[in-house]
Amino acid sequence: MTIGEGRLLGEGNHSPIAPRAPARGRQVIPSWEKCSWSENRQSKVTIDLITALPQVVRGPLESGILGRALEDGAGDDGPVAEVRVHDLRDYAEGRHDQIDDYPFGGGGGMVLKPGPLVRCLEALAEKHGAPDDVIYLAPDGERFTQKAANRLSRSDYLVLVAGRYKGIDERVRRRWITREISIGDYVLSGGELPALVLIDAVVRLQPGALGDARSALTDSFQDDLLDAPVYTRPASFRGMEVPAVLRSGDHERIARWRFDESLRRTRARRPDLLAGEDAPSERPSPEDDGASSEKTA
Ligand code: SAM
Repeated sequence: MTIGEGRLLGEGNHSPIAPRAPARGRQVIPSWEKCSWSENRQSKVTIDLITALPQVVRGPLESGILGRALEDGAGDDGPVAEVRVHDLRDYAEGRHDQIDDYPFGGGGGMVLKPGPLVRCLEALAEKHGAPDDVIYLAPDGERFTQKAANRLSRSDYLVLVAGRYKGIDERVRRRWITREISIGDYVLSGGELPALVLIDAVVRLQPGALGDARSALTDSFQDDLLDAPVYTRPASFRGMEVPAVLRSGDHERIARWRFDESLRRTRARRPDLLAGEDAPSERPSPEDDGASSEKTA
């Protein structure tokens, strides 16, 4: 299942926070049209993250490319994206601020209660309107891929739910969650790291997030290829030389070399990618490759 197929969970989805528009269907379009910065978007993506452990996400949201993108003044008009973190305990119930309880039927582990989570979702919907998607990070969700990141990068407003313990009550999944995303076939203690993975992958595709926006297009998995090897100075390091073509200044040759290396690496490491819908059938021109200086932002 891919995100573009617009999976809606639960029958009917009566939620007041149901997504406001169906997800875009799959289209065969050039990869640079698939991520947000190429669309001349006026709006920026806003992400609300609901978590029982806000402290886990603070550091990463303040660091590196992500941190810079979320800072005021990062873009022409404020931050290039906005991430708001909500502490599930602010919506807790009872004297002990309870957000979890024992599972019906017994067994080990606790379950996040539906009440606090739904109160938080409803409060967000009342304040900010309906999101494009309410995403629960879950090991049994659809697998997160670059294509999924590209598509999500074109959203205006996403709500992410990070689980803890045994997960969230199934009734919330059925009624309020519109997508479930897994970052891989392994189980982490909480959804905060998966949420950060998704946020980073989406925010770096926003216009203004990367110094050189087009470098994202030559990254691995765009166009179903792995990235070509990269080198920096010095040209000679401990007896190993940088391939001469990269120092030739001949953009056409460089583009051809990079494409051949990408293809070689993909065949060797991920031949499955070459069966994908975006697998390249011919060499890109140097302009498409990002080797041209005109393309550098
Ligand atoms: N009982 C759940 C299962 O076996 O599917 C695992 C719960 S896990 C310990 C707690 C939370 O971590 C989940 O609710 C989810 O939000 C998050 N999580 C763990 N692994 C994940 C993964 N691979 N992808 C996305 N979220 C994950």
